[in-house]
Amino acid sequence: MGHPRVDAIVQQAREAVAAAQSSAELERVRVGVLGRQGELTQLLRSLGTLPPEERPLVGAAANEAKRELEALLDARLGATLETERQHERARQRLDLTLPGRRPPRGSLHPLTRVHDEIVAIFAGLGFSVAEGPEIETDYYNFEALNIPRDHPARDMQDTLYLTESTLLRTHTSPVQIRAMLAQKPPVRIIVPGKVYRRDVADATHSPMFHQVEGLAVDRGITMADLKGTLALFAREMFGPRSQIRFRPSFFPFTEPSAEADVLCFVCHGDGCRLCKQGGWLEILGSGMVHPQVLRNVGYDPEEVTGWAFGMGIERIAMLKYGIDDLRLFFENDLRFLGQFA
Ligand SMILES: [Zn+2]
Repeated sequence: MGHPRVDAIVQQAREAVAAAQSSAELERVRVGVLGRQGELTQLLRSLGTLPPEERPLVGAAANEAKRELEALLDARLGATLETERQHERARQRLDLTLPGRRPPRGSLHPLTRVHDEIVAIFAGLGFSVAEGPEIETDYYNFEALNIPRDHPARDMQDTLYLTESTLLRTHTSPVQIRAMLAQKPPVRIIVPGKVYRRDVADATHSPMFHQVEGLAVDRGITMADLKGTLALFAREMFGPRSQIRFRPSFFPFTEPSAEADVLCFVCHGDGCRLCKQGGWLEILGSGMVHPQVLRNVGYDPEEVTGWAFGMGIERIAMLKYGIDDLRLFFENDLRFLGQFA
């Protein structure tokens, strides 16, 4: 070239250009040498401070160096930008061989599954589904079901009253009354729904749970019809070897009344942990509709008879799936719920 100061700047710039990995780094090199504060620019600007005889030499060398570095940077920058564009295109290209992202698959809540199963079994027997309000009047929830105000049976159920005469229904039985008032016999309905009790939540209690009520009223209906229907239900629900037994019980709205047990489907009666060695599992309460209940809805108990039952959907689900804590149904823990997919 011709001048040591210029040569040093050029040499340094060449090395920096060679070492640069990106267009951004090249740009920094360009600014550092050729920018307004760049080394070469500064040198050219300071020509006036040099001895007069050096000025033309240094000036020529610096201008020469400037052209060379501009050309070098342009060439490298062009090549680097092209490489960077290619990388960017490659990065953005869709890889059609990648597996797709599947949305997580949901599953029905175990209570919904058992609910649907119960409804399907009784629908197959010709029952239709009836529903009623969860906020009930004292009349439908108690009075019409033969549970007068001073009746000790009211102590059996801790009721959540809203006003003196309205309450959260404690069972699905008021829908029996509503259904019978709305139609003449024969009646064959099942009534699934939420019910409420003033209970503190623990492994076996919940202030809200689900029941299914069954009601059949017609001429000549007997307790044998009830037992036959429940035996068929048990076989569908718990397996073909299921059996049903009745134990005498009391409910104000049925007479006679019976608790129904199903033969333990784990040990088939031999005794195991699930049935607490008893061989049988309690699944529901039932009985023949009390004549007074029939009279309350305008039916003639001399003409028609009927049976009714009520069971807890949680109870059935706990038995069927071997769940020992009621609270699991309501905690919305997907690790629990996902097991029923
Ligand atoms: Zn058992």
